[in-house]
Amino acid sequence: MIDEIPLSRPDISEEELRLVDLVLRSDRLAGGPMMEEFEALVASRTGRRHAVAVSSGTAGLHLAMLALGIGPGDEVVTTPFSFIASSNCILFVGAKPVFVDIDPVTLNMDPEQVEAAITPRTKAILAVEVFGNPAHMDRYRAIAAKHEIPLIEDSCEGLGGAWKERPIGSFGRIAVFGFYPNKQITTGEGGMIVTDDDTIADACRSMRNQGRAIPASGQPRSSTLGMAFRHDRLGYNYRLAELNCAIGVGQMRRLGDILEKRDLVAKEYVRLLLDTSDIILPTVDQHTRMSWFVFVVRLADQYTAEERDRIIQGMHRHDIGAAPYFPCIHLQPFYQERFGFESGDFPIAESVCQRTIALPFFNRLTLREIDLVSQTLTLMISRENLKRT
Ligand SMILES: *Cc1c(COP(=O)(O)O)cnc(C)c1O
Repeated sequence: MIDEIPLSRPDISEEELRLVDLVLRSDRLAGGPMMEEFEALVASRTGRRHAVAVSSGTAGLHLAMLALGIGPGDEVVTTPFSFIASSNCILFVGAKPVFVDIDPVTLNMDPEQVEAAITPRTKAILAVEVFGNPAHMDRYRAIAAKHEIPLIEDSCEGLGGAWKERPIGSFGRIAVFGFYPNKQITTGEGGMIVTDDDTIADACRSMRNQGRAIPASGQPRSSTLGMAFRHDRLGYNYRLAELNCAIGVGQMRRLGDILEKRDLVAKEYVRLLLDTSDIILPTVDQHTRMSWFVFVVRLADQYTAEERDRIIQGMHRHDIGAAPYFPCIHLQPFYQERFGFESGDFPIAESVCQRTIALPFFNRLTLREIDLVSQTLTLMISRENLKRT
């Protein structure tokens, strides 16, 4: 009997257990030293002045929009090939997502189409490092600078990666990370906003905490009296508890090791699947330090979405997790209804969406399991081929 191989599985060590235990035995369950340390670790890893812990990546993206003053009537250029949160945050503030098609190799937005989509109403470019790939981030950054609009980096899939030695999360005026259990590191639920801009950082700190005033650092305690119930702006409860931050501190301390393990898993998949016909493997540019979020292969152009789905179902019958990552955002029912998008609007993204298969991918995947997944995938593909002929 073979155990199920899930799509993803968190990797929690004794270190995280110890830190959570420490928090539970302390009197500070929110807004304490673990949050400060977690923020400092992420700021330092990404080379940014500020890091602001929040309750999720989605909450971080929402605050990024608000901190940049994006609102009704504004347009934000973004990708239809991503997890839905990256464009939902544009809707949260009443702005309009302007999608552009993707580069079929890197799966990130085609930079030329980004530039062509900019209008006088464009208030920002929101770029995603899809599956952890930082390709074109420097191009988006240059386009944003030329048009004097901010670049927002949705780095929820890219912690620890780099492009030409420049860390993911350091390209945008604001970048946001997410720590859901399937990400490179997890806090259960959680997110982090990073920026070099003092005003943006203060606004985010205030908005995550009900719009409370932020005491200037070093201010004597007597002068902060009354600050706890002074609300400077409309805020939210997007705080991240000390328990979650403790998990994050433990995970950040092990980040090097975690990324190395993921690298080994990805390399093993590439080695085993290199000769499988009809599969397109993820490509990593020579300038890229990849931080693997997921391992997504693509079937060749002759395969239909139905054939892809049957291959995934076949893997499920063998107790192997596999999933179609991602369906296109513009074809989600409420996006179609609201904005009138149709099939054919972004042909490259749509063609990619129909043929992707995410394979089980996590730190502790064994060589035997990787081998089993690869063999099962190859078998299911050849079965589809037999049906066709
Ligand atoms: C995971 C993810 C998010 C959202 O993060 P949550 O912490 O789940 O809210 C946003 N954007 C992308 C691209 C993601 O992969």
